[in-house]
Amino acid sequence: KLMDINELISHVTNNFRIKVENIEGRIVEKLEARNSSVYVDEVHFTNVIYNLLDNAVKYRNGAPIIRVKTWNRANGLVIAISDNGIGISKEHVKKIFEKFYRVPTGNVHNVKGFGLGLAYVKKIIEDHGGTITVESEMNAGTKFEIFIPLKNSKEWKKNLKYS
Ligand code: ATP
Ligand code: MG
Repeated sequence: KLMDINELISHVTNNFRIKVENIEGRIVEKLEARNSSVYVDEVHFTNVIYNLLDNAVKYRNGAPIIRVKTWNRANGLVIAISDNGIGISKEHVKKIFEKFYRVPTGNVHNVKGFGLGLAYVKKIIEDHGGTITVESEMNAGTKFEIFIPLKNSKEWKKNLKYS
């Protein structure tokens, strides 16, 4: 389905905001992509955004400040979701997209999870012809950047077996 990604993101953040405000945090949105219509699977793409926000809350360090930005780059759309949470060290950050991987020091005993969220996120983004990267600093925060190409969007729609 051809979706306006800025609108889709706003939907998710609006539903999520109450949860963040209950722990004194906030979500800051800067949805500046002018061209943000892409063929995506609505349910899965919503889950992707939800998963990244969920992690930002789970791995927080005090009150979370979550920044969600979009902008256009080359022939695509960039979505950045960053937090001021516990961060991930260099040795672990390489593995976070693997199924069942959880950072052993990442408050793993207190925070529930299967280590599947990011493996799912990566799979869905790649099925949409996109990429996802992560940058993180211990005790400072983590930033995920998603790139989705706008061109040939109908082409890779064919790969979405679940839509
Ligand atoms: P779930 O399957 O419920 O999502 P999970 O959150 O443990 O479980 P992932 O979302 O795949 O699994 O994340 C993998 C690991 O990466 C987490 O266990 C955590 O250690 C680390 N991680 C993910 N997001 C962040 C973040 N925003 N800040 C710090 N660490 C993170
Ligand atoms: Mg998760």
